[in-house]
Amino acid sequence: MINLILFGPPGSGKGTQAVKLVEKYNLLHISTGDLFRYEMGNNTPLGLEAKSYIEKGQLVPDSVTIGMLKNKVDTNPDVSGYIFDGFPRTINQAEALDSLLAEKKLVIDKLLSLKVEDDEIVKRILHRGKTSGRADDNDASIIQNRINVYKQETSPVFDYYAKTGKSVLVEGMGDIDEIFERLNAEVHAI
Ligand code: ADP
Repeated sequence: MINLILFGPPGSGKGTQAVKLVEKYNLLHISTGDLFRYEMGNNTPLGLEAKSYIEKGQLVPDSVTIGMLKNKVDTNPDVSGYIFDGFPRTINQAEALDSLLAEKKLVIDKLLSLKVEDDEIVKRILHRGKTSGRADDNDASIIQNRINVYKQETSPVFDYYAKTGKSVLVEGMGDIDEIFERLNAEVHAI
C-alpha cells in the first residue's frame, strides 16, 4: 500500500503527473476537482453548491469537500494505494484525511509538492482554458484568486506533513517525463 498526496499550486501539473503515477503504481486517483466537475456536469445538489465557489476561484467549504472525499475512499477499499490530488487543501482537510486513514490503519507515505513559478502557472492555466471548458481557467483575476488561496490556506499543508518528515519539494518546471522521473525517485525512496 502506498498513499501519496500530489501537491502544488493550481496548474502545477498534478493532474498530468497523477495519471502517470497511477499507471506505474496501480493506485486509485482521487481528484477532488474532478469529482466536483463530475457533480457539476450532472447538476447534482452537491455540484450546484460547489459551482458557486469554484467559479469565483474560492475553496468549496470543508464540510462539503471532506464528506465527498470520505465517500470516495469508503466506496473503494480494495486498492493498492491512493493518490490524492487537490486534497487536502486546508489544515482541517489534512487532519480529516489523517483520521479517515487511521480508522483504516493507513497513513500518508509522502506529500510530493510540485514547485512552479507564478508566471508559469498563469500561462499554463490560460493555455488549458482554451480547451478545458473550465470557467475558472479563463479569467486572469479568478486565476490570481486561486493562487492567493493556495498561498494563504493550502501551502500550510506542506508544513503540516513536513513535521513528520513526509513533505518533499519537487522541481515542477521542465518537460513532463523529466518531472515524472523526479517524482518516481521520491516514490522509490519510500
Ligand atoms: P487546480 O489544481 O487547477 O486549481 P482542481 O481541479 O484541483 O484545479 O480544483 C478546481 C477547484 O475546485 C478549486 O479552485 C476549488 O474551488 C475546488 N476544489 C478542488 N479541491 C478542493 C478542496 N480540496 N477543497 C476545497 N475546494 C476544492
